[in-house]
Amino acid sequence: MKFVDLHLHSRCSDGTYAPEELAALAQRYDLSAVALTDHDSLEGCPPAAAACHAAEIEFVTGTELTAELDGNEIHLLGYYLDMDNLALLEALAKFQAARQNRIREIVARINDLDIPLQSETVFTLANCRSPGRPHVGRALVQEGFCATQDEAFDRFLKKHRPAWVPKFKISALDAIALIHQAGGLAVMAHPGLNRTDEAIPKLVQTGLDGLECYHSKHPPGTVSHYLHMAQHFNLLVTGGSDCHGVSKGKATMGSVKLPYIYMEQLQARHLCVGIPYTPTTCI
Ligand code: AMP
Ligand code: FE
Ligand code: FE
Ligand code: ZN
Repeated sequence: MKFVDLHLHSRCSDGTYAPEELAALAQRYDLSAVALTDHDSLEGCPPAAAACHAAEIEFVTGTELTAELDGNEIHLLGYYLDMDNLALLEALAKFQAARQNRIREIVARINDLDIPLQSETVFTLANCRSPGRPHVGRALVQEGFCATQDEAFDRFLKKHRPAWVPKFKISALDAIALIHQAGGLAVMAHPGLNRTDEAIPKLVQTGLDGLECYHSKHPPGTVSHYLHMAQHFNLLVTGGSDCHGVSKGKATMGSVKLPYIYMEQLQARHLCVGIPYTPTTCI
């Protein structure tokens, strides 16, 4: 039996593994194919693709776009994207500039609390184009201003705390169009975490291709709820661990192993060749 994981993060956004490490880890967890889906970035895809090629693991170019619909945050996964698509590259550059400005704003708010953290410290630590709050948390720990990342979030970074700054988002409908014009497939990430089921019919009308039914934070009831929804709207079923690396001593990679049939269905839709839907259970 072959398995895939279609939702992974690397150090090129808020993950802890280098993109090159993902291939060796995929082998360890007995995965035949993986997709790298860093937030608002494709930066890690070339090195991850090269490492996967060497390890004979299939690789899917991906990203996870930060979007919104009717005031609700929605994450859209894009798969099989053309890495040279100009509109996509321009949009990602805009996301990344906004993320970098957000870091400066978060740090300024931390400075207002008489904590002399420097933005440059965060950028050096992040060493990627798509920095986020976890990098600020790690910098606060590294510089001795917080004992743990949890403390950094609890005191400063989470919503309703003094250094919380909203994230730049694009309309979910624009995100789907952007993914499509770059030759990709658009999949709604972890619908069970956003609890925005009412958005799904609107996204379907705009051409949403799939629903991430299997996710490390979806309990079995949530999985079956979204499997039914996917069937109802004739959407592809996808899934992944959403691994951000080792967190609290536990790696999330391997926690969702999607049967390879789902990868074949994704490939077939990408190539515009319909193959019959066969429900299979995921481990
Ligand atoms: P950002 O994209 O900058 O808003 O950061 C989001 C990331 O921060 C998520 O992917 C989580 O990994 C991490 N995160 C969010 N809330 C917390 C928290 N309370 N403690 C630790 N990490 C968190
Ligand atoms: Fe993340
Ligand atoms: Fe997400
Ligand atoms: Zn993710």
